[in-house]
Amino acid sequence: MGFKWAKSLLKNLDKKKLHITKGASDVSSINQNLRKNLKKFSRKRKKLDYYISGISQGNKTILSEAITIIESQNSKDMALAKAIVKACLPLSGKSIRVGITGVPGVGKSTFIDSFGAHLCNHLGKKIAVLAVDPSSNRSGGSILGDKTRMETLTTIDNAFIRPSPTANNLGGVAKKTRETIILCEAAGFDTILIETVGVGQSETTVHSMVDFFLLLMLAGAGDELQGIKKGIMEMADTMIITKADGENVLNCKKAKMTYQSALHLFPPHPTGWIPPVLLTSSLENEGIQSVWNTVEDFKKQSISTNYFRENRINQNLYWFRESIQEQLFMLFKKNKRVKEELHTLETLLKTEKTTAFEASEQLFNTFLEEIKKQND
Ligand code: GDP
Repeated sequence: MGFKWAKSLLKNLDKKKLHITKGASDVSSINQNLRKNLKKFSRKRKKLDYYISGISQGNKTILSEAITIIESQNSKDMALAKAIVKACLPLSGKSIRVGITGVPGVGKSTFIDSFGAHLCNHLGKKIAVLAVDPSSNRSGGSILGDKTRMETLTTIDNAFIRPSPTANNLGGVAKKTRETIILCEAAGFDTILIETVGVGQSETTVHSMVDFFLLLMLAGAGDELQGIKKGIMEMADTMIITKADGENVLNCKKAKMTYQSALHLFPPHPTGWIPPVLLTSSLENEGIQSVWNTVEDFKKQSISTNYFRENRINQNLYWFRESIQEQLFMLFKKNKRVKEELHTLETLLKTEKTTAFEASEQLFNTFLEEIKKQND
């Protein structure tokens, strides 16, 4: 068992507690904790049937194990991961996918806890909570999807919570999240909540994988339009002013009016939908049912105008193109000659000895030559 394999496994384990002994060439010479985890890790891999029958029966433990394979950085898991997603695809697509965003501290996890519990307990829904957080790092503790942040939901049988996958880039996180959505839907979850914060492009990414996008906002004293990018407001299908309780209620009502008039200035939604501004108090469970009514109204309007289906088709096309680009780039960078030349050309660019166009053309020609060589 090679050192490389152990190293990639380490990415999935707690880096603080575990480290590879310098110079180790075999698993047997790395620390005991890792060895224990390695055994557990390899024991966990089962045959495809085990995952598919577990998922289709709605078994949350097996669903979690399957998601772990999807998220695995180990190349040995790739074939199984693909097979799981492929088998789940025909069972997927039947949920409503809701994106939830807002700045840290706005009350996202408290809202999801209250909203999710309401959906499960009063409306008989099965909900899955996922997170997209490109800054998340399991060893450092993910800021989103942390189970301790949704205390009620964790005790509910019909709810499933999964923290953000760890990946080096947003594209990687997004791909894994989309596959996780498919698995959750195949497991019978009818409402998928996907949480994100304003890190880089994460809102846009989540927006491109959901049917309905909720923006949570705080009522501020006179600065209602500050601190949130216009583009994000434009994506919102509904805006919620959080923490509308106690002395804050008046402020929230004022903020509602300000945002309501701001939203009218944005281009109209293709369905003619006008995004409402709602007030909620997650602590007092106020306004929670009206959020769900809004989701239902939007869904009805989207279905009657065919937008619901068209939007999902466009999202699939978008992810198809993204995925091609990503795979092509991976193939490109994997080539030894291209990799070396890329490095050299970057140095030349930094010293202004070439131009971006010239350098990319040269590199692309090298790539084509390499492909031709392989085919000859
Ligand atoms: P997140 O970072 O957006 O997930 O925000 P949290 O859900 O962790 O909430 C941030 C803080 O706001 C916590 O101290 C919560 O207790 C508080 N909070 C959340 N929702 C409400 C609410 O409805 N009313 C009040 N008064 N406080 C809230």
